[in-house]
Amino acid sequence: MSRRSALLALPCAAFLLSACSSLAPAQAAASPADAILLGRLFDARAGLVIDHGVVVIAGERVLCAGERAACSWDATTPQHDYGDALLLPGLIDLHVHARPHYIGAFVPSGVTTIRDAGNTLDTLARLRATSGAPRLLATGPLLDGPVSVLTPQGPAPFDAETLGGQPAITLTSPADADTVIDALAEAGVDWIKLYEQLSPEVFDAALQAAARHGLPVMADLGTVLTRGLTGAQVDARHAAASGVTTLEHLGGVALAYERLGGDPDAETLDPALLDRIVADLAQSGVAVVPTAGNAAQFAAPDSLPRDDLPGAALVAADFSGYWSHLSRVLGEPEVHALARSDQRLLRAMLPRLLAAGVRIGAGSDLPAAPYMLAGPALHQELDALVANGLTPVQALQAATHVAADILGQADLGRLEAGARADVLVVAGDPLADIRATRRIEAVWTDGTRVDLAAAWTTVENALDAARAEAQAEVEAGSTDEG
Ligand SMILES: [Zn+2]
Repeated sequence: MSRRSALLALPCAAFLLSACSSLAPAQAAASPADAILLGRLFDARAGLVIDHGVVVIAGERVLCAGERAACSWDATTPQHDYGDALLLPGLIDLHVHARPHYIGAFVPSGVTTIRDAGNTLDTLARLRATSGAPRLLATGPLLDGPVSVLTPQGPAPFDAETLGGQPAITLTSPADADTVIDALAEAGVDWIKLYEQLSPEVFDAALQAAARHGLPVMADLGTVLTRGLTGAQVDARHAAASGVTTLEHLGGVALAYERLGGDPDAETLDPALLDRIVADLAQSGVAVVPTAGNAAQFAAPDSLPRDDLPGAALVAADFSGYWSHLSRVLGEPEVHALARSDQRLLRAMLPRLLAAGVRIGAGSDLPAAPYMLAGPALHQELDALVANGLTPVQALQAATHVAADILGQADLGRLEAGARADVLVVAGDPLADIRATRRIEAVWTDGTRVDLAAAWTTVENALDAARAEAQAEVEAGSTDEG
């Protein structure tokens, strides 16, 4: 088996969602305010900071936000004066793999909305029922071709009876795509996720089926490290031209580059080929979720600082074995070379994509890569985006209003009248040092202040319970064998 094909089966799981209705503009004007938040304020759309900012909250929504002089409120309304701290829209992580034992770690990390990128419908239902979960948009099971790393035992055809428990479904024909996407739409998924090894014909049929239901589509077309050059059939240019909504991990770019005659493993990449790919992506209107933190940690595990992340000590413990194992695999010279190819492509592509006006969204892919912390990893992604050429403002926009735009959720990712009152308050200035987003003073979701200590205690209890459950399973297993 080649080294490439032996590579990482990135964990993928997801869930469906409830969440956000579209913007219900401020009937707010007549409602009394419930809370006043004072501080510096990040205007996510304009990309600037208002020094004397305010967010006036009424119920679950923002009644008024911006310069204090532009908003008015009653003196009896409770005020929360955060001084020089910065008020930001609650952050959005566009690519996660959530699980019940760490679903509670997002909100106290300032991540108030997530897009889950692959899960069973049953797990999604559990996640949604968990108190303290962030707002959740999700794909259902991943859709892939008959030969797939997701279904190592062989094809997993659609089965209406067991749909809720299927993490991946095999599509072998355009008719399959219609049947499965009809069923997923019926089940209420928010997104469709297409995976690496679909044929172009089935891929395009799936896009058409999704479009009939008004469902956006994310595609993971594989990277050099995964199977982007060994089995993937659809490249990034094809996917974009066919109307995919987001490209994850810059997947399919290596294959597009190779098909244009380039060598994606070369130390020096051909600017003309890169520009051609970027021009095609820009023309299509596709958005890119590069998961730059992922690429960084695959190329150099533990290179992104994490000790200062919210909840770091708590959530790291359960992953150390997995991280060490993955790091050992990634340390093998042949594997390392593949990860470096991906990183070279990413470094070359991101500034070009930005310059061409392609929307870049922030997604951590947690916990797929080593040392990306379940819950707070979006802060690592912000760090990695800046390291790859985004300004801190662009990185913050990638996790706020650009992310909301990609999600088609006009009332998220901004602090403006009518928006959901999701607010992150951080000490320091993330525009000067992006790592300041980790210095969390307060989080508000839907107009309610989160008790951060209680939220972390809930996470601790959930992790303890999961550990006990896993231990019980191990013991039951050894008893059975005995
Ligand atoms: Zn993923």
